[in-house]
Amino acid sequence: MTNKHFPSNCAGPVFRIERRRDKDAHRAQEDSTVHGIRLLRRKKVCALAAAVALCLATPPCLAADASALQPLVANIHWLGHDAFRIDGKDAVIYIDPYRLKGGPPADLILITHDHADHASPADVEKIKKPETVIVTTPAAAAKLTGKIQTVKPGDELTVKGVAVRAVPAYNLNKFRSPGVPFHPKEAGHVGFVITVDGVRIYHAGDTDPIPEMAGLAPDVALLPVSGTYVMTVDEAVEAAASIRPKVAVPMHVGEGIGTLDDAARFQAKATVPVIVLPIEK
Ligand SMILES: [Zn+2]
Repeated sequence: MTNKHFPSNCAGPVFRIERRRDKDAHRAQEDSTVHGIRLLRRKKVCALAAAVALCLATPPCLAADASALQPLVANIHWLGHDAFRIDGKDAVIYIDPYRLKGGPPADLILITHDHADHASPADVEKIKKPETVIVTTPAAAAKLTGKIQTVKPGDELTVKGVAVRAVPAYNLNKFRSPGVPFHPKEAGHVGFVITVDGVRIYHAGDTDPIPEMAGLAPDVALLPVSGTYVMTVDEAVEAAASIRPKVAVPMHVGEGIGTLDDAARFQAKATVPVIVLPIEK
């Protein structure tokens, strides 16, 4: 079989395993191997196949992996929807602050695009201090005041000791009207890859699974799962497999668009470890 569902962090790298159609042929191949190397490789494949079968038969395998990865998300606080606060050693960072009830002041605020549930001037004011730096798109910057650095997909900068890369975020198949996506590629909406205290965190923004995500391989991927305006659960599962994070965290639910059930379904179906963070309000 070709095992499409091998959990990449379960027992090693993604691996194609071919089932021997003929057990006798399998045995004959092993017996005919004169040198130990080929036999050893075959035995390794068989042992891995057994491990994979056991892993697939016991879903807690992924759950156990996820709990071991908890330290990667220890400083990441989910504030509902796409809003997060990341408590770095040297900087408090917010991403897409929305419907906040306050919180520690921000050193850095990252905003993925200008839609009201991401660029919220009232929420920015709740956490902004005079020296706070806001990194966002030009359209979102037009709604805000303060020290603002505008970015487009592909830009890289370091702010308050935090390495920030803006990456593309757009729809492929979610349309507000025929031919008009909610998040058109040409609008220049972004996601962010940031490195905080050595942990690479990818916040995907409002997006479908797009080719630019492939192989980002962050430590943590914050992925929308609600459907309608962004990836559905199944699309998020596909995206997570392509991104290959150490752990994925679902978002874009719980504020009227999508539900916590979507987050649970993503956790159940994903082929990478998933942690559903508690909403901290
Ligand atoms: Zn949006």
